[in-house]
Amino acid sequence: MVHDVVVIGAGSAGLSCAKRLIEGGADVRVVSDTLGGRLAYDAGEAVNFGAYFVMSNYHHAEKLVTRRTRINPLSCRFHDADGSFATLSGHTVRRIPGLARFALVMARFMRHYSTFKTNCEYMSQREAMELDPYIARLFVQPASEFIAAHRLGAVAEDYVSKFSYACTGVDLDSITALDFCNVSQGLLVPIHRFSVDEQAIRGWLGQAYLQDTVVAHAEQDGVHTLSTAGGVTLQARNVVFATPAAVTAQFLDLGEIRRTCQLYVLHVRGRLRTGLDGEAMNLFPFSSPIIFTAVQDDGSVLVYSREPEVDLDALFVRHELVSRRDWDKAMYVSGRAYVEQQYGPSTYVAGDHNGLGLEPAAISGVYAARQILKTLPR
Ligand SMILES: Cc1cc2nc3c(=O)[nH]c(=O)nc-3n(C[C@H](O)[C@H](O)[C@H](O)COP(=O)(O)OP(=O)(O)OC[C@H]3O[C@@H](n4cnc5c(N)ncnc54)[C@H](O)[C@@H]3O)c2cc1C
Repeated sequence: MVHDVVVIGAGSAGLSCAKRLIEGGADVRVVSDTLGGRLAYDAGEAVNFGAYFVMSNYHHAEKLVTRRTRINPLSCRFHDADGSFATLSGHTVRRIPGLARFALVMARFMRHYSTFKTNCEYMSQREAMELDPYIARLFVQPASEFIAAHRLGAVAEDYVSKFSYACTGVDLDSITALDFCNVSQGLLVPIHRFSVDEQAIRGWLGQAYLQDTVVAHAEQDGVHTLSTAGGVTLQARNVVFATPAAVTAQFLDLGEIRRTCQLYVLHVRGRLRTGLDGEAMNLFPFSSPIIFTAVQDDGSVLVYSREPEVDLDALFVRHELVSRRDWDKAMYVSGRAYVEQQYGPSTYVAGDHNGLGLEPAAISGVYAARQILKTLPR
């Protein structure tokens, strides 16, 4: 049997793509070795080991998750080599002029970015950038240059660089201005932890879902043939690679892709040391391998690090490691490489290859689905 579409990968991109295709009446198969990918909510421990929060303007990714607790930006402590300060502090009062400038710069960005995201549902990211030179510029501009150009140095150093580090695991020289502004929205719009209802997703996927690993892909006379590690062969007239960029690059000739960061997420029960125990979150500068700590609803703590070895004694008076999750390829954050979204008439690429986070990934999946639906007989 030749299906209309096979979607490879069931993360934010693949699931958003599959959902739209199923709603559009396409005959779809979804093959993935995990359900959720970097949407890695652990229902037993009630923690997000992958993506940590959704923003209130994640209109597509939000369809895959259920919001949990709101993350309170007023309950943060920002650390530096020579001390720390809380969001609500005299330090912040002195930064009000800079924070106001940051808010104005971000208001302009968010107007452009909102239109850009909508356009990306209907056209490729490349076409959407051609329509908006402001966004196209941010895609290639280093974040540090953007910050200097907008005189945001002090505010970035004190607050935004630490939040950006928490979201990307790298410093401001590594990321683009577009990714910097994208993640910085989390300081201005409500953000929530979330759960993922795996049963509900399996419900709407139904028979379309196959838990397996695709190991080979070939195309002949407009028909794609996919072989899995489990010995299944699938055929389809369209294929969507909604796999991480490094995996997609093994199947298709993507050219240069962005480099990844590593993130190590530890779920810990224990008592944080004095100075770290006052606020819900501690955010550290890039000079620290510990990126941030976040108290969970049950009082346990998630610790994010960019190094695999984490000195829990430095953070806790006493501690017990519940579990950990190591992401050797956590996010595609560094470099300015652009990955096309279509390779030939029936081969699509979706994911966070060109832009960070659940929402850009979800939108790229929606775009692929829309393009395919246009080609199917009604
Ligand atoms: C620790 C961490 C924290 C993060 N925090 C946030 C956050 O707070 N907010 C935010 O918006 N983003 C966050 N992100 C980024 C976000 O998770 C990703 O940008 C997004 O999930 C990418 O979605 P995707 O569908 O492109 O890829 P993935 O979620 O990686 O999905 C790819 C899918 O492909 C499958 N796959 C791979 N190879 C094969 C194969 N050969 N055959 C079959 N299936 C295959 C995988 O199993 C997976 O299901 C975070 C990421 C990490 C790792």
